[in-house]
Amino acid sequence: MKVVFLDLDKTLLGEDYSPEPAKRFIDSLKKAGFEIILNSSKTRAEQEYYRRAWKLREPFVVENGSAVFIPEGYFPFEVEGVRKGDHIVIELGERYERIKAILDELASKYGLKYYGNSTPEEVRAFTGLPAELVPLAFEREYSETIFKWSRGGFERELEANGLRAVRGSRFVNVIGDTDKGKAALVLIRLYSRLGKVESYAVGDGENDFPLFEVVDRAFIVGSLRHPKAINIGSINDLLGVVG
Ligand code: MG
Repeated sequence: MKVVFLDLDKTLLGEDYSPEPAKRFIDSLKKAGFEIILNSSKTRAEQEYYRRAWKLREPFVVENGSAVFIPEGYFPFEVEGVRKGDHIVIELGERYERIKAILDELASKYGLKYYGNSTPEEVRAFTGLPAELVPLAFEREYSETIFKWSRGGFERELEANGLRAVRGSRFVNVIGDTDKGKAALVLIRLYSRLGKVESYAVGDGENDFPLFEVVDRAFIVGSLRHPKAINIGSINDLLGVVG
């Protein structure tokens, strides 16, 4: 069984966040028999938007490895987790409320701007998100994104509180003690109960490195380097390698 973990921002999505350009790529992966797992710093609500656009039915990993959402009945065996609507959720990260409370205490000292103290208009300006996607990004369950800071040092204070500050392509993501790799490993172990697993990952940022560590074959879109990953120019180049 072939399982591929895909990052969203700057991997499947371009500057305009449209699901359209990646549609053909996703369809080719489906035809090649892949289970397609989104593994991104985006929220559940945002990922459900893309899963609908691409007609994906597989599990997905939200907020930088903070939780694995598994559609009920997807695996032909019982999976332990929290029930949320029609998903079983395996929670690995921290609750949003605690992360926000800690950031609220540090905000004025470091000049921090994040979802929890920004307006939808400010978030549009920071991220370039289309207006209709902004409310989905505000539906945070396990992480925050710091868009702006006036001085450094806040990372250390977050770590002293048991949180992690992870650099993405433009911003700093604040999560509990987890990463994309830990969450991917949970799924690889579940798939392994069904048969031999061939695992792949594609990403573009440092927050994808832990993911690269746990899969058989890793690919980086762009010029960042990782000892295990192969650099590709665009996500479509993957089809030449695995199709
Ligand atoms: Mg990315």
